[in-house]
Amino acid sequence: MKLENIRIIMVETTHPGNIGAAARAMNNMCLSNLGLVNPQCPIGEIAYARASGANSILDQRQTWPDLASAIGDCEYVFATSARLRTLAWPQVDPAEMADKVVAFNDQIRVALVFGREHSGLTNEEIQQSNAMVCIPTNPDFSSLNIASAIQVLCYEVYRRHQFAPETPKPDSQDTIAASVETAGYIAHLEKVLVETEFLDPEQPGLIMQRLRRLYLRNELTRNEINILRGMLTAIEKRID
Ligand code: SAH
Repeated sequence: MKLENIRIIMVETTHPGNIGAAARAMNNMCLSNLGLVNPQCPIGEIAYARASGANSILDQRQTWPDLASAIGDCEYVFATSARLRTLAWPQVDPAEMADKVVAFNDQIRVALVFGREHSGLTNEEIQQSNAMVCIPTNPDFSSLNIASAIQVLCYEVYRRHQFAPETPKPDSQDTIAASVETAGYIAHLEKVLVETEFLDPEQPGLIMQRLRRLYLRNELTRNEINILRGMLTAIEKRID
């Protein structure tokens, strides 16, 4: 795994000091790839002051209008949350996240996604991830400052990376599909399920959420996505 392949994504952050503090935390741990989704504050003097010299990370930040575009080219996405959600999503602790990340080959791009200061990530955003990371805390006071949460996860990755054995060689035929490809397949599947009347768009229930979890949990490869999409296209032809 290459540390530069890890993107730290902050969604709709409202305080510029938190973005600066996040840049500092990342630089301490040799991570440099910062992405912002629709930031709710200017990235100016306050952010740079809190970055304490990690200016290049702020200078090179990328910005996207929504989470789907920020993670589109990433093969593996972790969402972070202080609390459990209504639909149980695969969940790991920071050490398990770091073990998984350092075992990836150098081709794999990973996103670690952090939520809004006041409301965290929406369920819809969490459900775009492969797994959720929770930092174990005092159950009665579980919410860390966002830059502190970023510090903890970056530290875990850096520490594991230092002791990681050689990264496995990529198998170009069977690499994990990027987030945008898996999302494209799931959207295609939903369309076919509606067309075949398996899914009632008026009363969809939790079916799509459960299917999304099934596919994201299993890290589909590019080849597998191609087969699944081919099956959907064949079904669509018969419907026509
Ligand atoms: N009140 C919000 C907390 C937001 S804290 C909520 O209930 O969701 C801002 C962000 O910091 C969170 O979205 C998450 O990305 C990160 N964070 C805070 N505490 C965390 C924890 N214990 N484990 C993992 N991430 C955490």
